[in-house]
Amino acid sequence: MTDELLTERAPGVREAQGRPRVGFVSLGCPKNLVDSEVMMGLLDRAGAEMTPNAEAADILVVNTCSFIDKAKQESVDAILEMARLKTAGSARKLIVAGCLVERYRDEIQKNIPEVDAVVGTGELEQILIAAGLDHPAPVTGAASPFTILNGNGHADVRPGRESLAGTHKDGTITSAFRPEGDRREEQGRFSRATWDGAGAQLPQYLYDHTTPRLRTTKSASAYIKIAEGCDHPCSFCVIPNLRGKFRSRRFESVVAEAEALVAEGVREITLIGQDTTCYGEDFGLKDGLALLLDRLARDMTRVGGLTWLRFLYAYPNRITGRLLETIAKHDNICKYLDVPLQHASAPVLKTMKRGGGAEIFLKMLAKVRAAVPGIALRTSFIVGFPGETDADFEALCDFVAEAKFDWLGVFAYSHEEGSKAFDLAGTIPKRVIEHRRRALMKLQKGISRQAMRARVGKTFDVLVEGESEETPLLWEGRTQLHAPEIDGTVYLNDFGPFEALTPGAFYRCEVTEAHDYDLVARVVGRASKEIPGEVEAPEFAGVGVGR
Ligand code: SF4
Repeated sequence: MTDELLTERAPGVREAQGRPRVGFVSLGCPKNLVDSEVMMGLLDRAGAEMTPNAEAADILVVNTCSFIDKAKQESVDAILEMARLKTAGSARKLIVAGCLVERYRDEIQKNIPEVDAVVGTGELEQILIAAGLDHPAPVTGAASPFTILNGNGHADVRPGRESLAGTHKDGTITSAFRPEGDRREEQGRFSRATWDGAGAQLPQYLYDHTTPRLRTTKSASAYIKIAEGCDHPCSFCVIPNLRGKFRSRRFESVVAEAEALVAEGVREITLIGQDTTCYGEDFGLKDGLALLLDRLARDMTRVGGLTWLRFLYAYPNRITGRLLETIAKHDNICKYLDVPLQHASAPVLKTMKRGGGAEIFLKMLAKVRAAVPGIALRTSFIVGFPGETDADFEALCDFVAEAKFDWLGVFAYSHEEGSKAFDLAGTIPKRVIEHRRRALMKLQKGISRQAMRARVGKTFDVLVEGESEETPLLWEGRTQLHAPEIDGTVYLNDFGPFEALTPGAFYRCEVTEAHDYDLVARVVGRASKEIPGEVEAPEFAGVGVGR
């Protein structure tokens, strides 16, 4: 997980002139980043100015992550750092938002008295009351240094209430089409009863295309959150307790947001949700993700702007033939699939309440590869789940060796109170967990190195992101096989026929060198597909995105 304060704004575009300046730290995953962008959009529209300089901020906001212990610690460290700045600097208010608030609402204010207000994941619009901006300042018409998505009109923002323009206008999440959530609620799936200091109310909020959003992602890339919450019963996971029941955004709302993004120059859209493959089930859509991808891919081709469309993350038993056909059919849908499998040993998966196993997964992967030749596959695993034996771990390693994923993440099991796994016997010692994590990563390193070497001499379209943070001698970019912020990097050391490259533009590049996870390439020309117009360089670098 990474965090950064918003950095670099276009100088002199907008001065504070009595407007409160807000410093914003966003932690955790891309879904949390979209929440940050929504809160920043609301603040901006209410008259605040965003600042990259925490010392100069009047209001500090930390949007936290509470996924596992490490993320919680990182969140607490960030809050404490901002609390010190508040004490020593000019900030009047410190606001804590996000998943940590859903978990420790009362505790945060009790234990960190510098915190003035908390805003849960279901209360994003409350950021205005927390910041003292519940009476929005008149719009000045001054140019914003940031990209603000406003759609066709503004959300009816009433602090403390659901957005009336949002997906769930009546503030309830029940679905005749998808009763899993209600059924799992009855079974206690979302219960916070064991969480001291947490509120009982589950989040229900989900932004829509009319909600102001201040985009912070770099280059020509943006996320769209198409669904929130999760109804799956995975026993190690507390995300449903933190984010609530599964709910999808309306089809047309997603399409409208995509159109607005493309119109402002975005060339890569990544659709996100805890499980995007359930998209639309709650309003009766079958194969909703495939339908949405198909519509976006066709529409954006007509509009003539979107070059890459991708989605994160797929649940293994929801990868349908129609979804694969849709990915294969459209040039502008990235040949990329992130399907977190969590393990490959059937007994472990059963205790995880996920099901499946190596044999089923290998068949599924073969089907995916046959339907979409050349597709890049990413997955993630948890090692050290309670009861995981040496034999289970070996089965996982054998599976990884055979499956040959392009990208793979390994998490050490984190014992989370409130998860079903918390009460399981057979906890694994930390040093064994760490040993297994390293062993699996070492195995994958060899697989990745081979895959990278196989790409030497081949040419790809590369989305150039800008100068490398490591050295100004190199520039960085990604192929469609690399999702933003998470997979390896393509380093460009030779600009070929170009004197300079434009961040956010696509170029055809030949891979000249391979490393364990990264590639080195030289530019050989324009991208294979004509990209309509050059994408303007972004005016700022954005907040960090977790992995
Ligand atoms: S599908 Fe993902 S978010 Fe949902 S419960 Fe399982 S691990 Fe958690």
